[in-house]
Amino acid sequence: MDDWQLPWEGGCRCGTVRIRVTKPPLLAMACHCTGCQAMSASAFSLSLAIPADGFAVTAGEPVLGGRNRDMHHFCSACMTWMFTRPPGMDWFVNVRPSLLDDHLWFVPYVETWTSEKLPWAATPARHSFEKVPELPEFEPLIRAYADEGARPL
Ligand SMILES: [Zn+2]
Ligand SMILES: [Zn+2]
Repeated sequence: MDDWQLPWEGGCRCGTVRIRVTKPPLLAMACHCTGCQAMSASAFSLSLAIPADGFAVTAGEPVLGGRNRDMHHFCSACMTWMFTRPPGMDWFVNVRPSLLDDHLWFVPYVETWTSEKLPWAATPARHSFEKVPELPEFEPLIRAYADEGARPL
């Protein structure tokens, strides 16, 4: 457990909103869905699923945005897409790993929605899904990630 080198600090592009992670991630993901392509203005989004009680906003007040304005949190000053709290799944928060002050170690372990990916887009994820795994499929992925997921350098 200790090799995760917690806690982690991070923040948005302008520094108004700061975040802290104090528990090991459940999963590291890349998502190729067209929604994530739009939200990230890039080929795919990156996420670290953090247990909800291991995540905190330590400065600033993020605002809700995205299609339904019900789960995606942004800095109101620089509009950075920071984290996502999926409705009905309040035990984890999906944090954008590139916001962590130290994130060079991040490697996606699972990739989702490869059915919508740009033809050239590729990640080193060990597990690929055309859509999203069913909920029961996540349990073995989370166990395997705890054993072999990439750690901070
Ligand atoms: Zn900001
Ligand atoms: Zn997506």
